[in-house]
Amino acid sequence: MKALRSAQVAAGFAGAVGAGVTLTAVVAVLWWTMGAVPRGVVGMGVFVGVASTGVALVLAGWLTGDDERRMVALAEDIERRTPDSPLQPGLGDGDDSESMTRLVGSVESALTTAAAQISELRHRGEVLQSLLESSPSGILVTGPVGKIRYLNATFERLVHLRGEPVGRLPIEAVRVAEVQTVVDRALAGQSSTDVACVADPYELLLQATPLAHGGVLVLAQDVTRFRLVERARTDFVANVSHELRTPLTAILGFAETLLEDRDRLPSDALTLLDRIHRNARRLRDLFEDLLTLSRIEARRGELPIVPQQLRPILAEALASAADLAHERGQSFELRCKRSLMAPVNPEALSTIVSNLVMNACHYTPEGGAITVSVALLDSEVRIDVVDDGIGIDPAHQQRIFERFYRVDEGRSRRKGGTGLGLAIVKHMAMASGARITLTSTHGEGSTFSLHIPR
Ligand code: ADP
Repeated sequence: MKALRSAQVAAGFAGAVGAGVTLTAVVAVLWWTMGAVPRGVVGMGVFVGVASTGVALVLAGWLTGDDERRMVALAEDIERRTPDSPLQPGLGDGDDSESMTRLVGSVESALTTAAAQISELRHRGEVLQSLLESSPSGILVTGPVGKIRYLNATFERLVHLRGEPVGRLPIEAVRVAEVQTVVDRALAGQSSTDVACVADPYELLLQATPLAHGGVLVLAQDVTRFRLVERARTDFVANVSHELRTPLTAILGFAETLLEDRDRLPSDALTLLDRIHRNARRLRDLFEDLLTLSRIEARRGELPIVPQQLRPILAEALASAADLAHERGQSFELRCKRSLMAPVNPEALSTIVSNLVMNACHYTPEGGAITVSVALLDSEVRIDVVDDGIGIDPAHQQRIFERFYRVDEGRSRRKGGTGLGLAIVKHMAMASGARITLTSTHGEGSTFSLHIPR
């Protein structure tokens, strides 16, 4: 600002001096080239030139000096000013030049607009701040190198802090290691959703998203109560299944004993006994599946995983289904290189594949084709169970992994299904760090894919 004022004053002086010197020079040149000009005229010319230079200098100095003083006063007023205070009264009034008055007017209106905008922004900032602070989710924001810039009160309550967190990395400030993991992933451009972690006594789900201008937003959701309710439900189902299994085993045993002498039984009694036996078996399968499901749910994501050769596990899992496929005249193929290894839980993998292959046989007409193939990809090993059977309409595909969800109840019952097979598949996959997807076209067949991270 000071430099600008000095430049303006210098320009005023330079203009005035320039005008006077030019007049003097013109007269001098005339005198030089036209020696005939009388001395009196030349003298008068030089005098007028010098005098006008002087007057111009005085005038310019006075004018620029006056404007400068007002500019300095205006600048000082602006510097003192806070968004809420008005301009000093009288500035731009009285005997100012017109341009000065306009300048003061436009500065004042710009300042008034800026003050209104600042107050609006301040208000919005306060609203945002109270929203962030009262959010039921924990919120943490980092800068572009992952250092904490902000965290709300909920985040502070849910995780355990080691001293002042702002300006430090999550690993230094937060006792939950998973926070650093999701921040690192987001800094590398990869979002995370529903990463489960424990910050005793809380159970949390973390989500992390990279921010557009660098940095990461982490949300922490408290799912402690939800998990408690879920555990109570799972325990209840497991206990009921367990309690009912004992009398059921007895009924099944008695029915089988009686059926051993089926030739001696009257035909009515035999029909009833057959039904008792069939239904008791159905119930036993149902309780077995319910217990399996409860057990996997209780061990969410905790199944031990070790690198294994896949082919022997898959071959064994397919053995039972191979008999069924043979009965139904279906072709059956396993495509997997002997050397192929992947980190899996062998029991879980076997249960998953045999469930999928059994379904493929049941929901593919006689003479159809079923293939299990394994592909080694960059970041995963993918096992596809492919059939050319009845397929699944897109309307059902979203819900197919829910407990007891069936597309065709009658068909499922006829094949002796419990409606829990795919729910078990999904939970087994999750518990062993994998995931399951489905692509299917109604009437053309289905492909269930198990994605195992490498
Ligand atoms: P279910 O015991 O009824 O087979 P699942 O959970 O294994 O229970 O399967 C749920 C439903 O998904 C089945 O009832 C069936 O409608 C459908 N389904 C499963 N696998 C296939 C498949 N390979 N082709 C067509 N439909 C299938």
